[in-house]
Amino acid sequence: MKKELLYSGKAKDIFSTDDEDLIVSVYKDQATMLNGARKEIIKGKGSLANQISSLIFEKLNRAGVATHFVKHLSEKEQLNRKVTVIPLEVVLRNVAAGSFAKRFGIEEGQKLEQPIIEFYYKNDDLDDPLINEDHIGVLHLATAEEITYIKAETQRINLLLQDWFSQIGLCLVDFKLEFGKDKNGQIILVDEFSPDNCRLWDSQGNHLDKDVFRRDLGSLTDAYSLVLKKLEEIH
Ligand code: UDP
Repeated sequence: MKKELLYSGKAKDIFSTDDEDLIVSVYKDQATMLNGARKEIIKGKGSLANQISSLIFEKLNRAGVATHFVKHLSEKEQLNRKVTVIPLEVVLRNVAAGSFAKRFGIEEGQKLEQPIIEFYYKNDDLDDPLINEDHIGVLHLATAEEITYIKAETQRINLLLQDWFSQIGLCLVDFKLEFGKDKNGQIILVDEFSPDNCRLWDSQGNHLDKDVFRRDLGSLTDAYSLVLKKLEEIH
């Protein structure tokens, strides 16, 4: 089914297929931080992130969110619709943590009065800078109408995800989404949703996400396995 390598990212390789509208994403056993400055091979991570992301995207599809997810193919592979990726990282925050807590001098763990959406320009050479809606317009990354749609979808996805994670006793602190445009110009959710791109805290304040790697808090695969096990219980 896989034909040629189209793109090799930090967490995934993307291959073309016989169908020009479909791609295969292959999840890697690699964890990176600081834009790839720190890198480590973590056996089993690719399979766990693929399984978690497949499960979440399947639930999102069922809930009526338009996504690129077609099906889970094997341990590390999933079939996705091909899109033109919009070069934005869309971050939604429910609770202060990470770069937000640092930037504004707020203690991690403080619940925000309302969910906040931030945009980062996906550009490794520039280290993915924080940008606002005026920047996005002037740089022609997306139109004002598209941004309105992306923000509304992100809020809707947040409500669904918060519900599912609260059912398994986890707080969805923040997450990062990416969107793309299919050949009909429709904006759909792409990339992945796994503990690689969100923060999940249990009621004791344990981190069950990539901060385990970023902050050296223990076994990353133990944390991801626990999230997968809990999600499977409610699926
Ligand atoms: N995030 C991501 N990719 C990035 C940067 C951030 O998936 O390149 C996710 C991160 O896992 C967290 C949320 O976006 O769930 C907010 O991250 P933050 O801005 O706090 O940055 P960090 O502290 O992770 O550097």
